[in-house]
Amino acid sequence: MHIPFDNSYATLPEGFYTRLQPTSVASPKLLAFNENLAAELGISGADPKLVARVFGGNEIPQGAAPLAQLYSGHQFGNYNPQLGDGRAILLGEVIDTNGLRRDIQLKGSGRTPYSRGGDGRAWVGPVLREYVVSEAMHALGVPTTRALAAVRTGEDIARETMLPGAVLTRVASSHLRVGSFQVFAHRGQIDDVRTLTDYAIARHAPEADGPLGLLQHVCDRQADLIAAWMSFGFIHGVMNTDNCTISGETIDYGPCAFMDDFHMGRVFSSIDQQGRYAFGNQPNIAVWNMAQFATALIQQIEDKDAAVEAATAIIHAMPARIEVAWARRFAAKIGIRTPRDGDVDLVQRLLDLMQKDGADFTNSFRALGTDAARDQFTDRAAYDAWATAHADRIADEPDPAGVMRAANPAVIPRNHRIEQMIEAAVAGDMAPFERLMAALATPFEQTDAELAKPPAPSEIVAATFCGT
Ligand code: AMP
Ligand code: MG
Repeated sequence: MHIPFDNSYATLPEGFYTRLQPTSVASPKLLAFNENLAAELGISGADPKLVARVFGGNEIPQGAAPLAQLYSGHQFGNYNPQLGDGRAILLGEVIDTNGLRRDIQLKGSGRTPYSRGGDGRAWVGPVLREYVVSEAMHALGVPTTRALAAVRTGEDIARETMLPGAVLTRVASSHLRVGSFQVFAHRGQIDDVRTLTDYAIARHAPEADGPLGLLQHVCDRQADLIAAWMSFGFIHGVMNTDNCTISGETIDYGPCAFMDDFHMGRVFSSIDQQGRYAFGNQPNIAVWNMAQFATALIQQIEDKDAAVEAATAIIHAMPARIEVAWARRFAAKIGIRTPRDGDVDLVQRLLDLMQKDGADFTNSFRALGTDAARDQFTDRAAYDAWATAHADRIADEPDPAGVMRAANPAVIPRNHRIEQMIEAAVAGDMAPFERLMAALATPFEQTDAELAKPPAPSEIVAATFCGT
């Protein structure tokens, strides 16, 4: 197998990472391999046995420069001075067939100096969850890390019970996070903050003018990302600053989920008692995370007063920036190409009805304009009044049905389907995984009506746990 490595992170100062190899696993078996992504990355000669050995961590491919990255971050609002890749190894980077630099990282590949109390491993469940959800996200057109491979290790790991281990190979525009900057800023290592800023600008925002230009760039990307997530009913679940990328890609699919019945306050993580990362609070958290990024970045600027003033202006502008992106996304969901005054109210009225009646978020939007949408609501009179106002509004819109089709998926990775898929995979049956992957590859086409159904009461998954 040939992977055309071209490593840049490994040329940064030693303090940014620790060089080490993944820990070999007992008996690597390939669960899934993303052929299309492999081709995009320029990977050739991928024989299945070798793929399992390489992406299980048992064989280091030619040209790799394996390392674990250092970072810190705020977890649920509290600063943790050292996190880092506790169970991940960056194999290296490639320049893909589109000319973009991409990281190839193993996750679940053994302990590192940043493992703290952890075992450095992952089990099949979260590995396949991340595989399915990140690829679904990509197919929905939302910036995200990708999944290249999932390998079963042949070793059991201890969680609440003993569970089969697995390694995920994740591909990202980079693994730079807000926490990558915070770790140096908090230690007062200003030269390192500067080095990382230059690196991030070169890699992600070559047009950006200095640290404040980078801040603006990342705020814009994060604003778009949050609006995109929300437009598909996605709840990330752990928007800690170490899970907030500089690239603007979604990263770290832990206790995440797409909503079934709509509620602004929906939370999926069992440890998020306060609802800090609830669906409707995601814009606030994105701004909060960018404020932490700003705090880290401005340390390198000589004129502190001017830097604080400029950074504050950028952060203060972010909520409005998110609102604009949100309005555009949600207007499209009701068939409006370019939102104007009053459209957000119209959307909000629908969301309020959905919340009151427990309507299914995805299916209600997908069915708008048909009786199937009306059936989602118990207060039919209220829905009919809304539908009349909506019909009036879109009467002179060009192709509202087409706009809605392109904004409202027929199928999303529903949590109960993911849980069923995991249960089957643990038992050795990958058919539900293949079925999900097939339907989610074209989410705006209705190819598998069963997968579009919300869970029966007995199938509802209450919380996704952090025991990943
Ligand atoms: P996450 O919540 O997945 O973003 O992880 C937060 C931090 O915990 C990161 O530094 C991870 O590398 C680390 N971590 C999570 N699970 C493990 C594990 N099983 N072993 C070692 N480190 C872990
Ligand atoms: Mg993380």
